[in-house]
Order: sequence, then C-alpha cells, then structure tokens
Amino acid sequence: MSKATTPFPKATIEGYPRIGANRELKRALESYWAGRIDAETFRSSTHALRVDNYNHLRDLGLTEDYAIPADVAYYDQVLETGLTVGLIPGGTDLDEEFALARGNDSRVPLEMTKWFDTNYHYLVPEIAAGQDITPAPERILAIVEEAREAGHTVRPFLVGPVTLIALSKPAEWSLLPSLVDAYATVLSALREAGVEWIQLAEPALVADLDTPDAELAKHLREAYTTLLGAENRPNVYLTTPYGATREALPVLAELAPEALHVDLAPWTLDQDAEYPQRIAEAVPAKTQLVAGLIDGRNVWAANLRERSEVLAALGDRPVAVSTSTSLQHVPHTLKAEKNLPVDVATWLSFADEKVAEIQALVAGEEGAKEAFAQSDRAVRTRAESTTIHNQAVVDRVAKLPEGAVKREPAFEERNPLQREALGLPALPTTTIGSFPQTQEIRKARADHKAGTLDDAAYQEALRTEIKNVIELQEEIGIDVLVHGEAERNDMVQYFAELLDGFVVTENGWVQSYGSRCTRPPIVVGDVSRPAAMTVEWAKYAQSLSEKPVKGMLTGPVTILAWSFKRDDVPLSVSADQIGVALADEVRDLEEAGIKVIQIDEPALRELLPLRADDRKSYLDWAVRAFRLVALQAEPTTQIHTHLCYSEFGQIIDAVAALDADVTSIEAARSKMELLEDLDESFHSEIGPGVWDIHSPRVPSTEEIAGLLRAALKNVPTERLWVNPDCGLKTRGYAEVEPSLRNLVAARDEVVSGL
Ligand code: GLN
Ligand code: ZN
Repeated sequence: MSKATTPFPKATIEGYPRIGANRELKRALESYWAGRIDAETFRSSTHALRVDNYNHLRDLGLTEDYAIPADVAYYDQVLETGLTVGLIPGGTDLDEEFALARGNDSRVPLEMTKWFDTNYHYLVPEIAAGQDITPAPERILAIVEEAREAGHTVRPFLVGPVTLIALSKPAEWSLLPSLVDAYATVLSALREAGVEWIQLAEPALVADLDTPDAELAKHLREAYTTLLGAENRPNVYLTTPYGATREALPVLAELAPEALHVDLAPWTLDQDAEYPQRIAEAVPAKTQLVAGLIDGRNVWAANLRERSEVLAALGDRPVAVSTSTSLQHVPHTLKAEKNLPVDVATWLSFADEKVAEIQALVAGEEGAKEAFAQSDRAVRTRAESTTIHNQAVVDRVAKLPEGAVKREPAFEERNPLQREALGLPALPTTTIGSFPQTQEIRKARADHKAGTLDDAAYQEALRTEIKNVIELQEEIGIDVLVHGEAERNDMVQYFAELLDGFVVTENGWVQSYGSRCTRPPIVVGDVSRPAAMTVEWAKYAQSLSEKPVKGMLTGPVTILAWSFKRDDVPLSVSADQIGVALADEVRDLEEAGIKVIQIDEPALRELLPLRADDRKSYLDWAVRAFRLVALQAEPTTQIHTHLCYSEFGQIIDAVAALDADVTSIEAARSKMELLEDLDESFHSEIGPGVWDIHSPRVPSTEEIAGLLRAALKNVPTERLWVNPDCGLKTRGYAEVEPSLRNLVAARDEVVSGL
C-alpha cells in the first residue's frame, strides 16, 4: 500500500475549464493547425495557460496540496488518457496526436461522441482484443513536473480503466487485465516522482451503457483489486461524476480506495433521493468521502443551506467537498458578464463562483456567514421574482391536456390532403435549412451587432441573401425550398434571444470538442413568445417563389438540450412552455401562407437519460413537447422534422411517435442502415440523408442514386424524399452547388428507372 502522508484536501474541484478565460487554448490550437505558430510556440502558450489556471485556482482559495486537479489535455481527456496508458498508440508526436483527433491525408479521425449526457464530445478509442498496450507515463510526469516548477502540487488526472474500456469501440473487456497493468505502471512512475494522490474518473459507473451495470461492477472489482493492491502507487481518488452509482456502490465500498467521490448534485438527487443515505451506510470510515455537492454542469448558484443538509446526511465522518462533475461544462466566471439583468446575476454561479461555494460549505454557516446570507437572499429573490415567473404562461400550460397529445386528423388522413395541396413530384428534393454562411453575411451580422451597420441595412443584406438562395434552388430544380437561415447565428441562440424566459451571455463559452466552443443560453424562467420570430423572413422568401418554402423552427427538446436548464422546475415544464410558444409561431407561419414547416430536433437523442429506467418518461415528455408545436396545425400543413448527430435506432419508436409528416434524418455515412430499423409503426414520409455534409467531398450522381435505390428497398416510392444529411451552413458554395445538382440529377435518374 501507499505510504502517503498528505491528507486529501478538504476543498477541491473535479476539473476546470481547459479552454481558457479568453479561449486561449482555442486560439493556440487553431493557430498551430493553420501553421501560424510552430510546435514550440504552441507548447509554450498552452503551458502558460495551464500555469495561469493553477495560479488562478490558488488565488481563489484552493491552497491545499492536491486540491487542484491537473485534468490537462490538448484536445480531449479520453484521448489524453488513452495515449498516457497506451490504449491508443501513436501519441508521442504532437501532429500524430492531432491526426487522431482531426484526421490527415493518411488517416481518418477517431469517431467523436457525446461524453455522458453533456454537450462535451470525446474521441472514441478504437480497440481490439490482443492489441499492444504500451504506457507512456512521461506525458503525465511532465504535467506534474511543470506544475511543480511553477510551485504547485497538483493532482494528476486520468479517466479510469473501467470507463476507458466502456467508452471504447468495441468495449473489449478482454483487454482489462493488460490495461490495468499499464495503469499500474503509470501509477508507480507517479509514485516514484513523489506524487501522493491521483484522480481516476469512473463515470461509466453511473450510466447504463452497452455493458450492463452488474457486469460493469464485476470489471470494477477486478480492475481495482489489482490496481489498489499494487505496492508502489499514490493514493487513489476514485470519482463517479454525472449521476448515482447503483450496483457499483457496494463494490466501491468494499474496494475502499483512499478517497471516493460521489455526485450529489441537486439534479442527481432528483433522480435518486436516497443516494446520500445509501452512501452513508455503504462507504467505510477508512475511505475519505468526497461529496460532489456543487453542480459542475449547470450555472445556478447553490442553495448553501440545502446543500449543507445533504452534507449532514452523510453522517458524522469528515467529508471533503467538491463539484459533482468537472467544471469544464460551465463558463469561467460571471465577472466577464456585464449585461446580465442584476437580479439574474445574483442567482448564477460559473466555475470560479463555484469554487467559492465549495469553500463556504467547508467553512459551514458559522465560518461563512456572509456567503450563507447571500445564498439565502438569492434563493428568496429568485423564488419571488416576477420577471421569471409568468402566471399567464403557467396557466396556459396547466390548461393543456395531460399526457400524450395528438394532432388531428391522423397522418393517414392528412397525407392525401397535403399531397393535393403541394402537388410534389415523386421523390421530392429539399435541403435541411441553412445555406453556406458567407463571409459577407458573417460580417453583416458582426457589424450589426457592433452597431456599425443599422437595422435597415442589415435587413437589406439578409433579404439579398435570401433572394440569392431562393434563385439558386429554383435554378437547380429543388422542389421544396428553404430561405437559408442567414439571419441565424445559431439555431438555438436565435430563438433564445427572441423568447422571454432566456438570458444569453456575452462570454459564457464552454468547450464542445477540441477547439470548438458554444455559448449556451440560460433558461431562467417561464418561457413565452412576445412576438413572431421567423415569420417576416419566411414570408419574404415565399413571396419569391411559386414552390413551397419551408418555415424553419428549432424544436423544444433541442432548444432545451443546448441551453443551461432551470433547476427549479422539471425539464418537462420548460419543454411544454417552449412547445406552446412555438405552436403560436406555427399558427403565424400558416397565416402568412407557409405550407411546409420544419421543426428540427437534432438533439432528441442527446437528452436521453443515462439510466435505462429513466428513459421512457423522458421520451414521453420530449415527444409530447414536439407534438404540442404541431398540435393545432392545419391538416394540409406539412410538418417536417429533422434529426442528426446520433444513431437513432435505439429511439426509433420515439421518432415515429413525433408524428411528423416528413422526417429527414442523417443516414449517408451509415449507408442507409437506419432504414432497416423502421417498422410499420413508422408511417411518415422519410428523407434519409444522401449527402454527408460533414465532409467537403462532392457526392457523385451515381453515388446518390445508389443510396436512393438502397433506400427504396425499405421505403415505398411514395414516401421517400431526397435531401442532404443536415444543413449546409458549414459548407462553401463551391461544394454545395455541384452537390445539389448531382442530388437532383440522381433523383431524376432513379425516378426515370421506376
Ligand atoms: N435547420 C438547421 C440547419 O439546416 C438544422 C441544423 C441541425 O440539424 N443541426 O442548419
Ligand atoms: Zn442536422
């Protein structure tokens, strides 16, 4: 066993945003990739960022040894761990590392997918039975050393072995023993270097992934019996963020790592109220319990009084306090926000403010009177605020029928009416909504925001763009047109800025993946629509063509998924409110003469709960919220939906239950595989994507025709649509024009052969 003497810190965090308060990491990465800086400059600027973060966290009060986690990664934490323990080979060179993440001429990048139920994406290790696993401890030793030179005793971080395999493709458990040996090698090297604590994150233990919970618990026992049994190692701080452990908890208790983190965020306890009691009973006194009391993935200030009660429920033992998850999911600091409504600002807490909350909980009410008083005030003013509580909205939603709602008449009756109203050819062609965001449009938007372009000139620039996009589609021969979404910065933020009940931040960036950041809006209260949001643009676009132009809305689940959510009402309440606000938009679009309306729900799969037994109730409210949007639509109005970014096989019944008239869905890369999951319950018309817009490649007519013929094996001719996988905003016209021409030509070719 280890002979460490330094106790686990009383106050800590699970991880800190890596991207930098001014997105320094993003700049460094993109400059390096573009060849504007060399490897040495890249390394020194990212070194400065890491040391700045350590200094900053110490200034914020994380002064104990090992309180600051060194969850360092250039691109992604799973990639970093995979390279360190050798499960992913080939990371000795910076360019090789980035080739794994982004691909290059000789290799495709690793697949990227969502990290648990967050909006962060990790790189999926590709592994195989019998593969070589050669650890590279020098990576993590360098991190420890650079911190030490800057005067910090940080806590090195790795994703744990059980989670690393559970998240790999395939989850090849036969590799576990040799992988654990590799971890043991890394741990022993750390110990040799004088490191006394290491953090091993095992979030797989809170999720129902492909490996069943009981089997995962077995792997956990096996892995950590070996790892904790090793002679020469630092103390192990084993962490379980993102939810509550179930079958794993008694095993963790029995394994008794030196310190154990549990996620006790309000959201987690909403799902599992008994969790603190179960922990108190199971975990032996010799294990230092670390309570993840401060929500690492949402932006609300903690209710310190309520949080103290949860802490007390863990019993008389000494308990350290931390965040529920890494703070990588929240922005750096409220100090960077100058335009938040004053009351709202007092209800929020970003990464730095959360560090202060942790210290207040450690100090207790006696030691942190002012912080507790401030927390009490925030709880009270938020509960009483009339700016976020809107009785009219609450009453309106209360009057809705409960449970499933259904648009009348049924699809079978609507479908012929829509056919007659729209008069579309066989295998109609359309696109998903956005057209390339040109330099001019970006500049016009930036100038408008900066105040150097007035409203009238900005509107004119947008109208010109819409006209160009409509003319291009007419000329190419697309059947159902779009206006191109030039007015939208982002498909969620656009609506968040126009709906009441949201606030948007100026600087609230969080890392989505690699160098990509998003700025999620915050749902602060009851949501309503003060005025029409999309109608003027849709009306203008429709006035330019005889063909139908789609009205384009982002659905309630996606708006919610890509925002910070309220923590004072269930998600389903916000979803219903957004649903009825969008229903009003549907009515206004219909009145403006729009005959086809698309409600995008690319994030439908993303909010799926980590635990299988929570999924049905999620899908019920998600489907209901979508249906509320379309509930009152005229039978002749054709409602489309669009899904992408995930495999939908697992929730295909819910996709069918949306009861859209037409469903467009990403399918090109998987070569229409999804269509095999469709059964008779899937009655809508369907447009499986035939052009992978994530790649700059122009698909040929033959290739698209081939995909359409494959689709026709599973979908009857009268139900098949022809469209790309997703919107075109990330592409350039150089690819979009020929690709769309090929798409129309492929349709013509396939139809002529019918
Ligand atoms: N209508 C949106 C667009 O075309 C859909 C984007 C998405 O699915 N992510 O950009
Ligand atoms: Zn899409």
